[in-house]
Amino acid sequence: MIYKRSSALFAQAEKVIPGGVNSPVRAFKGVGGMPVFVKEAKGAYLYDEDGNRLIDYINSWGPMILGHAYKPVVNAVIEKAKKGTSFGMPTEIETQIAELAVSMVPNIDKIRFVNSGTEACMSAVRLARGFTGKDKIIKFAGCYHGHSDSFLIQAGSGASTFGTPNSPGVTQGTAKDTLLANYNDIENVKQLIEANKGAIASIIIEPVAGNMGCVPPKNDFLKELRDLCDAHDILLVFDEVMTGFRLAKGGAQELYNIKADIVCFGKVIGGGLPVGAFAARNEIMNYLAPIGPVYQAGTLSGNPLAMAAGLAMLNELNNDVEIFNRLADKTKYLHEGIARVLNENNIVHTINRVGSMISVHFDESEVVDFETATKGNNDTFKKFFHGMLNQGVYIAPSAFETWFITDALTYADLDFTIQAVNVVAKTL
Ligand SMILES: *Cc1c(COP(=O)(O)O)cnc(C)c1O
Repeated sequence: MIYKRSSALFAQAEKVIPGGVNSPVRAFKGVGGMPVFVKEAKGAYLYDEDGNRLIDYINSWGPMILGHAYKPVVNAVIEKAKKGTSFGMPTEIETQIAELAVSMVPNIDKIRFVNSGTEACMSAVRLARGFTGKDKIIKFAGCYHGHSDSFLIQAGSGASTFGTPNSPGVTQGTAKDTLLANYNDIENVKQLIEANKGAIASIIIEPVAGNMGCVPPKNDFLKELRDLCDAHDILLVFDEVMTGFRLAKGGAQELYNIKADIVCFGKVIGGGLPVGAFAARNEIMNYLAPIGPVYQAGTLSGNPLAMAAGLAMLNELNNDVEIFNRLADKTKYLHEGIARVLNENNIVHTINRVGSMISVHFDESEVVDFETATKGNNDTFKKFFHGMLNQGVYIAPSAFETWFITDALTYADLDFTIQAVNVVAKTL
């Protein structure tokens, strides 16, 4: 494939945008080479600036669950735009999407809309701290909750005592309040709670991790977290920015039948526009300004275009009773096909999958946490990524990302993809 125009556009972008991109993973640093510039997209396909067609398995990192340029969503945005794009005053559509979200997701009474998943998680943790009157949080290594300071923390030396900043600009003061635990390791969480008795406001988790590849929670892990939180007066925050409105109507709470205290949303809930949200039962949400003491605000929060896109998207998902089964079936088919051709080509691998989230790791051991996720062979992944791109299949340019299956993918697209894996596997 030819990437002449993409390369030229990237060179131009690098002069005026740091690294040429507005979000780091887009720059292909994890796989080498130059990023592909998109011109337009429709359904399951991206069309780049050089005229190549790519089957898309990123889907804007999750939001485009029904495919690109989905008509009802696009039309809703166009119609809203004609009536003004932002007012900084309440609008009816905010209540409409809030009512729908509250009806779809178990265990929430109220929802507050923000502009990104980052904002949702940042605000959820502030609310948890304000509500409980405690400072520390536990997060899991390999889980991503956006780029706010409290979450840009890595495990400190020793057995995860307290965190240290993993980006300059994050202070030690902030880092000391974030404790790092290993995903799927309940004993580790118990130890942290013991060592910080009475100090932990919340445990925040991706109920299915999607930012170290796809890593499902083990059998009773989420239930055990729930029990620990109940026993120690800790709020359980489910970061469902990726899993919300994707794994089921009610997200991972519904799929695993576990109640979270605060739930964060992003990605699908905005239908491709910048939207995040956090939600909880009344008791907790009423702790927010203007009725409660915890401050949180946003000039463009609940923006009419974003709400129109989100409402159209949620309506589609709410009205299509088969959607989540259909997505899961397609993902299973892809999983089985890829596993078959990788086995035929003797490529060592592990595939993880939950619903419409799937990831391929080039290592034979089970991938259950950040440590096992990083064991995969990154050189193999790089070759795999570029090979697939060359075959016209676009997967995330990093070994630590989940692939997202959209309803726009046909079984012919999936067969094409499996065949592409077969071709690429011979070069690995
Ligand atoms: C993408 C993501 C975020 C951050 O959302 P942004 O909209 O990129 O700020 C937070 N948590 C999870 C689980 C995510 O996947």
